[in-house]
Amino acid sequence: MNSMKCFACDAESQITNGLFKCNECDLTLSLADSIWESDDSETIFFDEEDHNDLFKVEDSSFWFRNRNKVILKVLKKFCPSGNLWDIGGGNGYVTKFLQEAGYPAILIEPSSQAIQNAKRRKVKNIIKGSLYSINVKPESIKNCALFDVLEHFDKPEIMIQKISLLLPPSGKLYITVPAHNLLWSQIDEYSYHYNRFNRKTLNKLLNAHGFKEIYSSYFFSFLFIPMLILRVLPYKIFSRKKRKDLFDREVKKHNKFAETIIKRICRVERKVLEFTRLPLGTSLIAVYEKVDTQ
Ligand SMILES: [Zn+2]
Repeated sequence: MNSMKCFACDAESQITNGLFKCNECDLTLSLADSIWESDDSETIFFDEEDHNDLFKVEDSSFWFRNRNKVILKVLKKFCPSGNLWDIGGGNGYVTKFLQEAGYPAILIEPSSQAIQNAKRRKVKNIIKGSLYSINVKPESIKNCALFDVLEHFDKPEIMIQKISLLLPPSGKLYITVPAHNLLWSQIDEYSYHYNRFNRKTLNKLLNAHGFKEIYSSYFFSFLFIPMLILRVLPYKIFSRKKRKDLFDREVKKHNKFAETIIKRICRVERKVLEFTRLPLGTSLIAVYEKVDTQ
Protein backbone atom coordinates (compact mmCIF):
# COMPACT_ATOMS: atom_id res chain seq x y z
CA MET A 1 0.00 0.00 0.00
CA ASN A 2 1.17 3.43 -0.87
CA SER A 3 0.18 6.95 0.07
CA MET A 4 0.42 10.47 -1.33
CA LYS A 5 -0.48 14.05 -0.50
CA CYS A 6 -3.93 15.08 -1.70
CA PHE A 7 -3.81 17.41 -4.72
CA ALA A 8 -6.64 19.44 -3.20
CA CYS A 9 -6.27 19.66 0.59
CA ASP A 10 -2.70 18.36 1.09
CA ALA A 11 -3.76 15.65 3.57
CA GLU A 12 -1.78 12.41 3.28
CA SER A 13 -4.04 9.56 2.15
CA GLN A 14 -3.74 5.98 0.99
CA ILE A 15 -3.58 4.63 -2.55
CA THR A 16 -5.27 1.24 -2.77
CA ASN A 17 -5.24 -0.76 -6.00
CA GLY A 18 -4.56 2.35 -8.06
CA LEU A 19 -7.32 4.31 -6.37
CA PHE A 20 -6.64 7.43 -4.30
CA LYS A 21 -9.33 8.59 -1.93
CA CYS A 22 -8.64 11.51 0.38
CA ASN A 23 -9.84 11.00 3.96
CA GLU A 24 -10.30 14.74 4.42
CA CYS A 25 -11.86 16.13 1.25
CA ASP A 26 -13.02 12.94 -0.52
CA LEU A 27 -11.03 13.73 -3.68
CA THR A 28 -11.15 10.50 -5.64
CA LEU A 29 -8.69 9.75 -8.44
CA SER A 30 -7.83 6.56 -10.25
CA LEU A 31 -4.50 5.73 -11.78
CA ALA A 32 -4.48 4.81 -15.48
CA ASP A 33 -1.26 4.66 -17.51
CA SER A 34 0.56 6.54 -14.74
CA ILE A 35 -1.93 9.45 -14.99
CA TRP A 36 -4.46 10.36 -12.29
CA GLU A 37 -7.99 10.55 -13.66
CA SER A 38 -10.90 12.28 -11.98
CA ASP A 39 -13.66 11.02 -14.25
CA ASP A 40 -14.36 10.15 -17.84
CA SER A 41 -16.12 13.39 -18.70
CA GLU A 42 -15.10 15.17 -21.86
CA THR A 43 -15.26 18.95 -22.06
CA ILE A 44 -12.81 19.64 -24.81
CA PHE A 45 -12.76 22.79 -26.90
CA PHE A 46 -9.79 22.08 -29.08
CA ASP A 47 -9.28 19.26 -31.52
CA GLU A 48 -6.64 16.92 -30.20
CA GLU A 49 -4.49 18.02 -33.15
CA ASP A 50 -4.76 21.68 -32.08
CA HIS A 51 -3.03 20.79 -28.81
CA ASN A 52 -0.14 19.40 -30.86
CA ASP A 53 0.03 22.61 -32.91
CA LEU A 54 0.13 24.67 -29.72
CA PHE A 55 2.73 22.33 -28.22
CA LYS A 56 5.06 23.12 -31.13
CA VAL A 57 4.56 26.87 -30.76
CA GLU A 58 4.59 27.30 -26.97
CA ASP A 59 8.30 26.84 -26.33
CA SER A 60 9.44 29.22 -29.07
CA SER A 61 6.81 31.96 -28.88
CA PHE A 62 7.53 35.26 -27.10
CA TRP A 63 3.81 35.52 -26.37
CA PHE A 64 3.65 32.36 -24.24
CA ARG A 65 7.01 33.11 -22.63
CA ASN A 66 6.02 36.63 -21.66
CA ARG A 67 2.57 35.58 -20.44
CA ASN A 68 4.32 33.10 -18.09
CA LYS A 69 6.58 35.83 -16.73
CA VAL A 70 3.65 38.21 -16.20
CA ILE A 71 1.73 35.45 -14.40
CA LEU A 72 4.75 34.75 -12.18
CA LYS A 73 5.10 38.42 -11.32
CA VAL A 74 1.48 38.61 -10.25
CA LEU A 75 1.72 35.34 -8.30
CA LYS A 76 4.72 36.69 -6.39
CA LYS A 77 2.71 39.75 -5.44
CA PHE A 78 -0.54 37.94 -4.63
CA CYS A 79 0.83 34.62 -3.49
CA PRO A 80 -1.46 31.59 -3.29
CA SER A 81 -1.35 29.79 0.04
CA GLY A 82 -1.41 26.09 -0.82
CA ASN A 83 -2.03 24.23 -4.04
CA LEU A 84 -2.91 26.02 -7.25
CA TRP A 85 -5.04 24.15 -9.78
CA ASP A 86 -4.27 25.15 -13.35
CA ILE A 87 -7.69 24.37 -14.79
CA GLY A 88 -7.84 23.54 -18.50
CA GLY A 89 -4.08 24.00 -18.54
CA GLY A 90 -3.67 22.20 -21.89
CA ASN A 91 -0.13 21.00 -22.57
CA GLY A 92 1.01 22.16 -19.12
CA TYR A 93 3.15 25.02 -20.39
CA VAL A 94 2.20 27.31 -17.49
CA THR A 95 1.97 24.50 -14.91
CA LYS A 96 5.51 23.39 -15.67
CA PHE A 97 6.83 26.95 -15.46
CA LEU A 98 5.12 27.52 -12.10
CA GLN A 99 6.35 24.19 -10.74
CA GLU A 100 9.90 25.13 -11.70
CA ALA A 101 9.41 28.47 -9.95
CA GLY A 102 8.50 26.56 -6.78
CA TYR A 103 4.71 26.84 -6.79
CA PRO A 104 2.65 23.73 -6.01
CA ALA A 105 0.76 23.77 -9.31
CA ILE A 106 -1.57 20.95 -10.34
CA LEU A 107 -2.59 20.51 -13.98
CA ILE A 108 -6.20 19.54 -14.58
CA GLU A 109 -7.05 18.97 -18.23
CA PRO A 110 -9.58 16.77 -20.06
CA SER A 111 -7.75 16.23 -23.38
CA SER A 112 -5.78 12.97 -23.72
CA GLN A 113 -3.43 14.51 -26.27
CA ALA A 114 -2.70 17.55 -24.10
CA ILE A 115 -2.03 15.24 -21.13
CA GLN A 116 0.46 13.23 -23.21
CA ASN A 117 2.17 16.48 -24.24
CA ALA A 118 2.31 17.58 -20.60
CA LYS A 119 3.92 14.24 -19.69
CA ARG A 120 6.53 14.76 -22.43
CA ARG A 121 7.18 18.16 -20.91
CA LYS A 122 7.73 16.41 -17.54
CA VAL A 123 4.90 18.24 -15.79
CA LYS A 124 4.27 16.78 -12.33
CA ASN A 125 0.91 16.41 -10.59
CA ILE A 126 -1.40 15.89 -13.55
CA ILE A 127 -5.11 15.12 -13.29
CA LYS A 128 -6.96 14.07 -16.41
CA GLY A 129 -10.49 15.34 -16.03
CA SER A 130 -12.65 18.40 -15.64
CA LEU A 131 -14.01 20.33 -12.68
CA TYR A 132 -17.57 19.55 -13.64
CA SER A 133 -17.73 16.03 -12.34
CA ILE A 134 -14.77 15.87 -10.01
CA ASN A 135 -15.44 14.08 -6.77
CA VAL A 136 -14.34 16.44 -4.00
CA LYS A 137 -16.04 18.18 -1.06
CA PRO A 138 -16.93 21.88 -1.50
CA GLU A 139 -14.29 24.42 -0.42
CA SER A 140 -11.47 21.85 -0.68
CA ILE A 141 -9.36 23.27 -3.49
CA LYS A 142 -7.06 25.98 -2.16
CA ASN A 143 -6.53 28.15 -5.28
CA CYS A 144 -7.52 27.98 -8.92
CA ALA A 145 -6.24 29.45 -12.16
CA LEU A 146 -7.89 29.93 -15.56
CA PHE A 147 -5.16 30.99 -17.94
CA ASP A 148 -6.86 31.83 -21.23
CA VAL A 149 -9.72 29.42 -20.57
CA LEU A 150 -12.86 31.52 -19.89
CA GLU A 151 -13.08 32.86 -23.44
CA HIS A 152 -13.75 29.32 -24.65
CA PHE A 153 -17.07 29.13 -22.78
CA ASP A 154 -20.42 30.01 -24.20
CA LYS A 155 -21.59 30.30 -20.59
CA PRO A 156 -18.49 31.14 -18.50
CA GLU A 157 -20.69 31.69 -15.44
CA ILE A 158 -21.12 27.93 -15.07
CA MET A 159 -17.38 27.46 -14.66
CA ILE A 160 -17.08 30.41 -12.24
CA GLN A 161 -19.99 29.11 -10.17
CA LYS A 162 -18.32 25.70 -9.94
CA ILE A 163 -14.99 27.22 -8.88
CA SER A 164 -16.77 29.37 -6.33
CA LEU A 165 -18.17 26.18 -4.78
CA LEU A 166 -14.80 24.46 -4.66
CA LEU A 167 -12.72 27.32 -3.24
CA PRO A 168 -12.74 28.15 0.48
CA PRO A 169 -13.29 31.76 1.62
CA SER A 170 -10.14 33.78 0.81
CA GLY A 171 -9.18 31.19 -1.83
CA LYS A 172 -7.70 32.92 -4.85
CA LEU A 173 -8.57 32.68 -8.50
CA TYR A 174 -5.99 33.85 -11.06
CA ILE A 175 -7.26 34.67 -14.52
CA THR A 176 -5.87 35.68 -17.88
CA VAL A 177 -8.19 36.38 -20.82
CA PRO A 178 -7.98 38.01 -24.26
CA ALA A 179 -8.94 41.65 -23.85
CA HIS A 180 -11.38 44.03 -25.56
CA ASN A 181 -14.07 42.96 -27.99
CA LEU A 182 -12.82 45.74 -30.23
CA LEU A 183 -9.89 43.43 -30.99
CA TRP A 184 -12.13 40.57 -32.13
CA SER A 185 -10.77 39.02 -35.32
CA GLN A 186 -10.70 35.82 -37.28
CA ILE A 187 -8.01 34.45 -34.96
CA ASP A 188 -10.64 34.44 -32.19
CA GLU A 189 -13.04 32.49 -34.38
CA TYR A 190 -10.39 29.97 -35.31
CA SER A 191 -9.31 29.71 -31.66
CA TYR A 192 -12.85 28.72 -30.58
CA HIS A 193 -13.38 31.93 -28.59
CA TYR A 194 -16.84 33.11 -27.61
CA ASN A 195 -15.73 36.33 -26.04
CA ARG A 196 -12.99 38.79 -25.21
CA PHE A 197 -13.24 40.55 -21.84
CA ASN A 198 -12.50 43.90 -20.27
CA ARG A 199 -12.17 44.74 -16.58
CA LYS A 200 -15.81 45.64 -16.34
CA THR A 201 -17.22 42.50 -17.94
CA LEU A 202 -14.82 40.23 -16.05
CA ASN A 203 -15.67 41.90 -12.73
CA LYS A 204 -19.37 41.62 -13.43
CA LEU A 205 -19.02 37.89 -14.07
CA LEU A 206 -16.87 37.26 -10.99
CA ASN A 207 -18.72 39.55 -8.57
CA ALA A 208 -21.95 37.74 -9.36
CA HIS A 209 -20.46 34.53 -7.95
CA GLY A 210 -18.90 35.74 -4.72
CA PHE A 211 -15.51 36.98 -5.88
CA LYS A 212 -13.90 40.35 -5.31
CA GLU A 213 -11.11 41.69 -7.48
CA ILE A 214 -7.86 42.25 -5.66
CA TYR A 215 -5.77 43.03 -8.71
CA SER A 216 -6.14 43.48 -12.44
CA SER A 217 -4.16 44.95 -15.30
CA TYR A 218 -3.99 44.76 -19.04
CA PHE A 219 -0.73 43.57 -20.59
CA PHE A 220 0.76 43.17 -24.06
CA SER A 221 -0.05 46.89 -24.33
CA PHE A 222 2.44 47.30 -27.18
CA LEU A 223 0.48 44.80 -29.30
CA PHE A 224 -2.76 46.76 -29.14
CA ILE A 225 -2.19 48.99 -32.18
CA PRO A 226 -0.42 46.33 -34.31
CA MET A 227 -3.30 43.94 -33.57
CA LEU A 228 -5.85 46.53 -34.63
CA ILE A 229 -3.99 47.16 -37.88
CA LEU A 230 -2.80 43.66 -38.72
CA ARG A 231 -5.65 41.52 -37.47
CA VAL A 232 -8.81 43.53 -36.96
CA LEU A 233 -8.79 45.78 -40.02
CA PRO A 234 -8.10 42.99 -42.53
CA TYR A 235 -10.81 40.95 -40.81
CA LYS A 236 -13.33 43.79 -41.08
CA ILE A 237 -12.42 44.91 -44.58
CA PHE A 238 -10.97 42.05 -46.58
CA SER A 239 -11.84 38.46 -47.26
CA ARG A 240 -11.32 35.63 -44.83
CA LYS A 241 -8.06 33.73 -44.66
CA LYS A 242 -7.79 29.99 -44.27
CA ARG A 243 -7.13 28.82 -40.74
CA LYS A 244 -3.77 27.25 -41.58
CA ASP A 245 -2.51 30.33 -43.46
CA LEU A 246 -3.53 32.58 -40.62
CA PHE A 247 -1.85 30.47 -37.95
CA ASP A 248 1.27 29.99 -40.04
CA ARG A 249 1.57 33.76 -40.27
CA GLU A 250 0.98 34.17 -36.54
CA VAL A 251 3.58 31.63 -35.47
CA LYS A 252 6.24 32.25 -38.05
CA LYS A 253 9.57 33.04 -36.48
CA HIS A 254 10.52 36.71 -36.28
CA ASN A 255 14.04 37.63 -37.29
CA LYS A 256 16.67 37.97 -34.57
CA PHE A 257 16.50 41.75 -34.49
CA ALA A 258 12.71 41.82 -34.11
CA GLU A 259 12.97 39.10 -31.43
CA THR A 260 15.43 41.21 -29.43
CA ILE A 261 13.24 44.32 -29.68
CA ILE A 262 10.11 42.42 -28.63
CA LYS A 263 11.94 40.83 -25.72
CA ARG A 264 13.08 44.25 -24.51
CA ILE A 265 9.61 45.75 -24.81
CA CYS A 266 8.17 42.80 -22.87
CA ARG A 267 10.77 43.34 -20.15
CA VAL A 268 9.97 47.05 -19.91
CA GLU A 269 6.25 46.33 -19.71
CA ARG A 270 6.78 43.80 -16.92
CA LYS A 271 8.84 46.40 -15.05
CA VAL A 272 6.05 48.95 -15.46
CA LEU A 273 3.56 46.37 -14.15
CA GLU A 274 5.45 46.33 -10.85
CA PHE A 275 4.38 49.92 -10.21
CA THR A 276 1.13 50.47 -11.99
CA ARG A 277 -1.77 48.86 -13.81
CA LEU A 278 -1.89 49.31 -17.55
CA PRO A 279 -5.10 50.78 -18.98
CA LEU A 280 -4.82 49.00 -22.34
CA GLY A 281 -3.49 45.75 -23.75
CA THR A 282 -4.44 42.69 -25.76
CA SER A 283 -4.67 40.53 -22.62
CA LEU A 284 -6.04 41.03 -19.15
CA ILE A 285 -4.69 39.46 -15.96
CA ALA A 286 -6.68 39.51 -12.73
CA VAL A 287 -6.62 38.06 -9.23
CA TYR A 288 -9.86 37.44 -7.38
CA GLU A 289 -10.54 36.34 -3.86
CA LYS A 290 -13.58 34.40 -2.75
CA VAL A 291 -15.53 36.52 -0.30
CA ASP A 292 -16.48 35.02 3.05
CA THR A 293 -20.26 35.29 3.11
CA GLN A 294 -20.67 33.79 6.60
ZN1 LIG B 1 -7.97 16.03 0.16
